[in-house]
Amino acid sequence: MTRPLPPGATIGILGGGQLGRMAAVAAAQLGYKCHIYSPDADAPAKEVSAAETTAPYEDTKAARAFADAVDVVTFEFENVPDDTLAAISEIAPVRPGVDALHVSQDREIEKTFLNDHGIGTAPWAAIGKAADLQIAADVTGLPAILKTSRFGYDGKGQVRVDTADHLAAAWDSIGNAPAVLEGFVDFEREISVIVARGLDGATESYVPVDNVHRDHILYTTTAPSTVDDKIAGKARDIAGQVATALDLVGLLAVEMFVLRDGAVLVNEIAPRPHNSGHWTLDACAVRQFEQFIRAVAGLPLGGPAHHSDAVMTNLIGDEADAWAEIAEEPGACLHLYGKAESHPGRKMGHVTRLSPVSGRP
Ligand code: AMP
Repeated sequence: MTRPLPPGATIGILGGGQLGRMAAVAAAQLGYKCHIYSPDADAPAKEVSAAETTAPYEDTKAARAFADAVDVVTFEFENVPDDTLAAISEIAPVRPGVDALHVSQDREIEKTFLNDHGIGTAPWAAIGKAADLQIAADVTGLPAILKTSRFGYDGKGQVRVDTADHLAAAWDSIGNAPAVLEGFVDFEREISVIVARGLDGATESYVPVDNVHRDHILYTTTAPSTVDDKIAGKARDIAGQVATALDLVGLLAVEMFVLRDGAVLVNEIAPRPHNSGHWTLDACAVRQFEQFIRAVAGLPLGGPAHHSDAVMTNLIGDEADAWAEIAEEPGACLHLYGKAESHPGRKMGHVTRLSPVSGRP
């Protein structure tokens, strides 16, 4: 067992967005320094960190120098190029781990991994050439959603297909990239679970939460979810099982669909802090970002209990212009990410409103 990083050690984070920013603040609370690697000189995470590298993610020379300068490397996004990952992992420990990143970078690999471990997903099939489209539609049924296998987020690289004669045009619209066709799930609700896994293999999960999306982007998270205890237990079991199967060290967010018959299917996994865990910043003694840093630094995990119920609302695009009114609202916990430019669909901040715990586990 490796010993925990001592205070004063440096955690390297690839990616400089709001997730890195909030992780760096949590790291500072525990006495660590953060070194942020991002191609963007004005990245939100760099404003709150001790050191920074500004270079493209493909620059393996810069990535090596970065790895040399830190004690451990982690990520706030999944799409790190393979060569960069390989170069870094020769020099510094990489947590959550190279395998966990590979699985979550590609929807085909991810769904295969989940199904191989007995975890249900929407019916799906891989698309590599035009002839695969009709064969896949026979597996999934229609309507279905065509998603690029890589580099999709917040609904980007996704298109809904209602009829078979629309399949070819749909694939054209995503640039004929390798993709998966997924059956459309008539879900009762969407939930997620964030689970942490330590260096010693211990896991701790936060309560499942209800997520509402608007234009494919997370809009609100309500914690805890109002699903019954059986479904909540099933969702937490799935999250723990996936984290262990990935041998992950860090945080894993598991987004799931709950069907009307109580079945739970996994939609997507992300091996990092997640937007649907932002409520923990204000409602838990140990927030997701601290839990993430604890795991990456090899510290014992904290308790995931919440002291308040919470509703987190994202401030997207010009919604963040209401910051002054929100700041006046008693009890509203306002978080702004320090992004200079606002544009439609960009996550600028969030607000969490707390209420007394409802008494659920
Ligand atoms: P994703 O980028 O895969 O997380 O998808 C973004 C959102 O699109 C999800 O949170 C759902 O609201 C919706 N969605 C994605 N896949 C499906 C599906 N197979 N059936 C129904 N809705 C979906």
